[in-house]
Amino acid sequence: MAADPLDGFRDILGADHVVTAAAQRQLLSQDVYRAGTVPLAVLRPDSTAAVAGLVRHARAEDIALFVRGGGMSYTDAYLPDRERAAIVDLGRMDRIRAIEAPDLHATAEAGCTWAAFDAAVAPHGLRARFWGPMSGSRATLGGGMSQGAATFGSGIHGTSASAALAFEVVLGDGSVLTTGTAGAPHHAPFFRAYGPDLTGLFTGDAGALGIKTAVSLQLEPRPGAKGSASFAFGSFEAMRAAVSEVSRHGLATEVFGVETALARLAAGEAALMTDLRALWAVARAQPGPLAALRQAARIALAGRRFLADSTYIANFLCEAADAPRLALTLAQLRRIVRARGTEVANTMAAVVQSTPFPAPMVLGPGGRRLLPLHVILPHSRVDAFHAAFDALRQREAARMAEHRALAFVVFAGVGPSALLYEPVIYWEDEWPELHRATMPPELLALMQPGAANPAGRAYVEALRVEIIELMLAHGGAHLQIGRAYPFLRERPAPFTSMVHALKQATDPGNLINPGALGLGAPARGQEPAR
Ligand SMILES: Cc1cc2nc3c(=O)[nH]c(=O)nc-3n(C[C@H](O)[C@H](O)[C@H](O)COP(=O)(O)OP(=O)(O)OC[C@H]3O[C@@H](n4cnc5c(N)ncnc54)[C@H](O)[C@@H]3O)c2cc1C
Repeated sequence: MAADPLDGFRDILGADHVVTAAAQRQLLSQDVYRAGTVPLAVLRPDSTAAVAGLVRHARAEDIALFVRGGGMSYTDAYLPDRERAAIVDLGRMDRIRAIEAPDLHATAEAGCTWAAFDAAVAPHGLRARFWGPMSGSRATLGGGMSQGAATFGSGIHGTSASAALAFEVVLGDGSVLTTGTAGAPHHAPFFRAYGPDLTGLFTGDAGALGIKTAVSLQLEPRPGAKGSASFAFGSFEAMRAAVSEVSRHGLATEVFGVETALARLAAGEAALMTDLRALWAVARAQPGPLAALRQAARIALAGRRFLADSTYIANFLCEAADAPRLALTLAQLRRIVRARGTEVANTMAAVVQSTPFPAPMVLGPGGRRLLPLHVILPHSRVDAFHAAFDALRQREAARMAEHRALAFVVFAGVGPSALLYEPVIYWEDEWPELHRATMPPELLALMQPGAANPAGRAYVEALRVEIIELMLAHGGAHLQIGRAYPFLRERPAPFTSMVHALKQATDPGNLINPGALGLGAPARGQEPAR
């Protein structure tokens, strides 16, 4: 082994792209929930060949590589668990390689953000079938595919995996694998289902099976008409039944909603924000966000009326090739949903439809820290999970108050068979560097960090573990597995053997994202009981 193990990386990337400044190493080894061990360096490759080179060098030096896209996850997914490690930051690999409009596919480097990809294909009248998470102004194609992201397009198509045609992946021995039809010479990545689905293996793999360097996506024509409708409901069960029925019929391209208590908290904030001259000045300088702000102000006003007597709000975003077809879809949706809820101002939906990729809000209302958890359940099992979660929340009410914590429910549709149920925990605490660096400064200026709250942090962690256990007991599935969800627990031997064999085949040195998917090293919080 070399005297300075970083020298080999410097030879490959140039010294400027082997970052050893303590502040950067610390910043890039945090996620939205917490911090990992500070690694030796942050590596910033700009080509597949450079990624392959640094993987080979890391193997020779026994340095673990933790791969970071936009850094917008909260499942310990890329947090180093040891010092002899480096973060691979794919931010420089953001080029669009090809847009094949007649054949409806495009390929971009894995560090390209969803927002940049969408902007690149839009002039062709196209977009990806799944076209991004709400964090898409920072979150990347590689991150979204490795996590299994959901939101834009998910009401009908499900997760990011539905848009994946092919991946270029650097494996743990430094070789480069291309999946799908593109894996054969002179073949374009136009078709995924050619033999066993190797592309599928790398979707939702938490980056445990290799470093994605390029992603080929299925495109579709952009819709000619868009509209939305929002409804307030008196009970969770009424909301859930309406959302399930809309999802089964595939009527909404996106379905998302919130517990009204959370909307109330956020509406207070929006009303406060719109009053502030500083924000007005920022908004006036930017025509896009201004429209969004007007809408936000409107919901803050309109909101107070219906927020008073509902418990859940659901937003349905609909699209069609033209206005008459959109009108038919919305009419059918209203027939279904009006039987269970009351239609209200659709401004929250309109804001999302007009500004799908805002700056990610990594702090909650009032500057609180946040931890979203989620479980995917079949429609028939959601109410039972909700009842169990609500019971847990009521049992914990006094402790939550003691620790300055709150918990709310957010939800979304993911394809025809399932609902994504997302408990979000908020708590008062100080702000880590990542949060200060990510929040728009004009919004940060309106918020106050909490006092350091280590007891509250420990309480949130205990709650996180308990809620994940509850999700497992209810037979749920997860996206964003990272190192947070017990993917391999309770699986029969043929399943676990197959997954371990895949890890061994793709990363024999166990140096790429060790611990992700529960492979190679125990996930934090899931260490075996002593
Ligand atoms: C405000 C906010 C809104 C959000 N909205 C959504 C939403 O609407 N839908 C949703 O699904 N999620 C959402 N998220 C969660 C998160 O942003 C997404 O899951 C997103 O896909 C993460 O992408 P990223 O590029 O930031 O990945 P990172 O956080 O950088 O990494 C995530 C995982 O992917 C791996 N990885 C990243 N790039 C590669 C690569 N090239 N090769 C191999 N492995 C890789 C990492 O090692 C890690 O395991 C949100 C988060 C925030 C903070």
